Amino acid sequence: MALEYNATVIGKIMITPDIMVLRVNTDTSRAEFESGQYTVLGMFGHEGRSANSEDERTETQPEKLIRRAYSVASHRSAGNQMEFYISQVKTGQLTPRLFNLQEGDRLYVSERIVGMFKLSETPPNMDITMVATGTGIAPYISFLRSHIAENQNIKMAVIHGAAHQWDLGYYSELVFLANTFPNFYYLPTLTDPDKTWQGYDLWIEEMLDQKILEEKTNIEIDPEKTHFFLCGNPNMAKGISAWLGDNHNYTKHSRKAPGALHIEEF
Ligand SMILES: Cc1cc2nc3c(=O)[nH]c(=O)nc-3n(C[C@H](O)[C@H](O)[C@H](O)COP(=O)(O)OP(=O)(O)OC[C@H]3O[C@@H](n4cnc5c(N)ncnc54)[C@H](O)[C@@H]3O)c2cc1C
Repeated sequence: MALEYNATVIGKIMITPDIMVLRVNTDTSRAEFESGQYTVLGMFGHEGRSANSEDERTETQPEKLIRRAYSVASHRSAGNQMEFYISQVKTGQLTPRLFNLQEGDRLYVSERIVGMFKLSETPPNMDITMVATGTGIAPYISFLRSHIAENQNIKMAVIHGAAHQWDLGYYSELVFLANTFPNFYYLPTLTDPDKTWQGYDLWIEEMLDQKILEEKTNIEIDPEKTHFFLCGNPNMAKGISAWLGDNHNYTKHSRKAPGALHIEEF
């Protein structure tokens, strides 16, 4: 059966000209998913591109449904309403079309929400450290919205790396959670901050080298005690997984070979 549009945009918050929170209402309710999982969004090639995009590198056929994976940022029992955190690839095929959407416009959202990058892959009572660059924060927003209230016996930390202050999406929500839940810690760090920034301006590897995670949270970097999630830029995932592997014997998790390191690259 040909795939058709099955969802409506109900909210679009521009964080910067190239980063947005997109909220959609699906025509039929989605089954409860596990926080951290992703679904697929799609739009046809004949749809318009955003005003600040550039020519696409690969020309798209008008009737082709362009589909890409996106992590769900909403609570896991969102039902019909889902939230995504998306950065625009100016020469890309799908994102300039997503950035051109307005409230009330239609798009395709897959019926399936899938993926192994989820908290249920960790044994009970493990502390959790979530490392993200850019829009890689999206699955952690779903983790926290879905599970923080019921997980007050473990420590949870988010390390979010970005270039500028304005790239730190969900900053207020994460600060609010850190102020509300004594077991949650938020450690944003910027590579190119302006003078007003009073937080960290380190690479994430430097934060780990300087033992900032242990000092600020009392989380131990030990695969028997703490699971690490890495989401975002493949270079960050490569660098941090090498750091964790070399210094603390972390191994990548899979169904066949359970480990304490969970990775989602995009
Ligand atoms: C599991 C998963 C979850 C994801 N979650 C998110 C999320 O929450 N938020 C998010 O923003 N993204 C997410 N992504 C990434 C997303 O799926 C898309 O890859 C991204 O949005 C770019 O899509 P696009 O169609 O605009 O770009 P594409 O057209 O797919 O282009 C992607 C890259 O290829 C380059 N490129 C394009 N055409 C060519 C060419 N002909 N030759 C050489 N280079 C070319 C572009 O410059 C760009 O760097 C996720 C990916 C995965 C796998």
